[in-house]
Amino acid sequence: MPFRSLGLDAAIIKAVQETGYTEPTPIQAAAIPFVLQRRDLIGIAQTGTGKTAAFTLPILSLLASSPSKGIRALIIAPTRELVVQIEENVRAYAKHMPLTVATIYGGVSERPQIKALEQGADLVVATPGRLLDLIRGREKAFAHIEFLVLDEADRMLDMGFVPAIRQIVKLLPRKRQTLFFSATLSREIEKLTGEFLQEPETVEIGRRSNPADTVTQSVYEIPQHLKPGLLLHLLQNGALNMVLVFTRTKHGADRIARRLEQAGITTGTIHSNRSQNQRLRALNEFRDGKIRVLVATDIAARGIDVDGITHVVNYDFPPHHEDYVHRIGRTGRAKAVGEAISFVSKEDDDALRALERFTRRGIPRVKAEGFDDKAPAPPRERGAVGNRRPPRKPGEVRAPRSSGGRHQGQSRRRDGSAGSAGGEARGSASGHQSAGGKKGGIGRFFGFGSR
Ligand code: AMP
Repeated sequence: MPFRSLGLDAAIIKAVQETGYTEPTPIQAAAIPFVLQRRDLIGIAQTGTGKTAAFTLPILSLLASSPSKGIRALIIAPTRELVVQIEENVRAYAKHMPLTVATIYGGVSERPQIKALEQGADLVVATPGRLLDLIRGREKAFAHIEFLVLDEADRMLDMGFVPAIRQIVKLLPRKRQTLFFSATLSREIEKLTGEFLQEPETVEIGRRSNPADTVTQSVYEIPQHLKPGLLLHLLQNGALNMVLVFTRTKHGADRIARRLEQAGITTGTIHSNRSQNQRLRALNEFRDGKIRVLVATDIAARGIDVDGITHVVNYDFPPHHEDYVHRIGRTGRAKAVGEAISFVSKEDDDALRALERFTRRGIPRVKAEGFDDKAPAPPRERGAVGNRRPPRKPGEVRAPRSSGGRHQGQSRRRDGSAGSAGGEARGSASGHQSAGGKKGGIGRFFGFGSR
């Protein structure tokens, strides 16, 4: 089906063609006609399906058909990265129309954002917290809103943004068109749709439970202390040339980045302790190929829309299957292929099994050729006991611990990113191999719960 048959404005179609898209993705084909009919819409689609264009293209098309009168469209998204990403998309699709766009998010000066609001940009993309701060006292600027989009609503719910969104929505005109996008449709999410939408249409693309078919998935069963070594080992394979690594904590992300940099692998990090500028710089360097590995936490990674990511590595396995699907959706985007590699240790067993039940698929277990995944932890890491000082004698004065002391030891055990000396890359540099012995192929295939 060509874009032309969807009823979009000619200026938008021209821009879309210049972007290089040849036909709408399924979510676009399903959602765009409803939006153009001015219907409220619930879109259930994971990232990587083209959902951003599914709401921006028809909104821009409708904006193009009537004169500007201040802010007419408001898109709310959970993270700054996602806001910037949506803005970039909007600018690309609106390049042949006289449209003004403003972004609003925390971590940067309010002043230019306030100015943009007061000048009445046609379309505003915002995170909920800063928007709520700025909207108070400027309600009039939002009196002409015709379109409200809540993007990644499930994530906004997880991040505790619903009260802020409720307050914002109260200040908007009741007569408006609301589009609600979420990767999942839980009971809580359904409740929210009842609150914010009127007689919505629902489009659901690809069972949410099925990660993109273009992504090959594999699991390395590996104890915590060998994870750093395994990552370095896998990175000896040049095929892993644009790699997104997920960790559970920001400190874990920093530690891994340091290890990789020490090994001569160009690495960036993106997590909530980094400033907005640092995050954007890391993202741009990753996109431009200046760094090979980007280490991210789930929340910071929400807006990562980078084409060409060859591998996603779940260094820490995500406890929630939604996060797994989101993470691996960062590779295999649009029609490209990608690989998702998960490091799974004993404590992740339940989460892995739950994921396999959810996706109704077993994920192949593979082994890295030339890597000893049974190497014991070096004595220092084998337990707190060996790392602990004897009890202090009454009156004894002690020198403070060095950086290898207790605090560090504890946090290492928590995120498992230390202790790699015993598990450092050894032997062959030939990438990964299936447990069955075939290089790069699918190893033993486990059914649900058969581990
Ligand atoms: P999204 O799900 O919105 O994050 O989009 C995923 C990726 O697909 C982005 O890199 C878009 O630029 C790209 N994309 C969106 N629509 C199309 C299309 N119709 N054809 C090809 N790529 C697309």
